[in-house]
Amino acid sequence: MQKEPQTRDIDHLILTAHTKNHLALIEESLIEDEITCIDGQDTYLSNHSIEAAKQGIVNFCQAIDDVKNGKTERALCLSRPPGHHAESSKAMGFCLFNTVFIGALHAQSIGFDKVVILDFDVHHGNGTDAMMRQNNNDNLYFISTHQGDHYPWTGNADTSTAQIHNFPIDANTGSSTMRELYLKRVLPTLKKINPDLVLLSAGFDAHEDDPHGNLNWTTEDYHWLGTHLNNYKTVATLEGGYNLQALPLSVLNFIKGQDK
Ligand SMILES: [Zn+2]
Repeated sequence: MQKEPQTRDIDHLILTAHTKNHLALIEESLIEDEITCIDGQDTYLSNHSIEAAKQGIVNFCQAIDDVKNGKTERALCLSRPPGHHAESSKAMGFCLFNTVFIGALHAQSIGFDKVVILDFDVHHGNGTDAMMRQNNNDNLYFISTHQGDHYPWTGNADTSTAQIHNFPIDANTGSSTMRELYLKRVLPTLKKINPDLVLLSAGFDAHEDDPHGNLNWTTEDYHWLGTHLNNYKTVATLEGGYNLQALPLSVLNFIKGQDK
């Protein structure tokens, strides 16, 4: 197992989705032994942040390769920082690089024709949404469920297109609302697209105990969601999830659901 990421190859992957200026800015912002805020809000760099972000991208792409090569049908990569808020030239919301979008382009480059990014983090993946609009890619789709009228205040239903499906959910709802939405709208949309691969922006901050969301999903809901996605080849990357008791239980339940 290689410990250090292969910088040149990783940078090549990052530059499929991000500008050179963005990558340079992130790297130049790192100050050794200091914690640096890079967006004036909530996105910070410490000594190993960039290394961790790059290794997360490598691991995600490796898992996609493993599915392509038939080693497994499903994988979940537990890496941080998250990625779905990162735009092509902007870090935000704890995210430096958009791992899931980089992975989607990688998946297509190795022969997955039709790829869906499904994002079930409590926050809308504004970075992924923006990259979708910048890349005219007929075989790439984005489906997001997220809390409406909430950070980052994007992803209204009326911004949906033929390839971008935004499903905001009202705050202070719960399991029944979530399951009904998935059964009536999300899963039928996925079925209609009939993708070769589903990449998951797997955020677990819609959990009822999470400090950053108000959708009140339960650990059982994540099991249910995993079960309902196991008809597909899936590779998941960890996005949000900030209650450190709820997060591992939610991840475990999701994996158990996928294993059915
Ligand atoms: Zn989130």
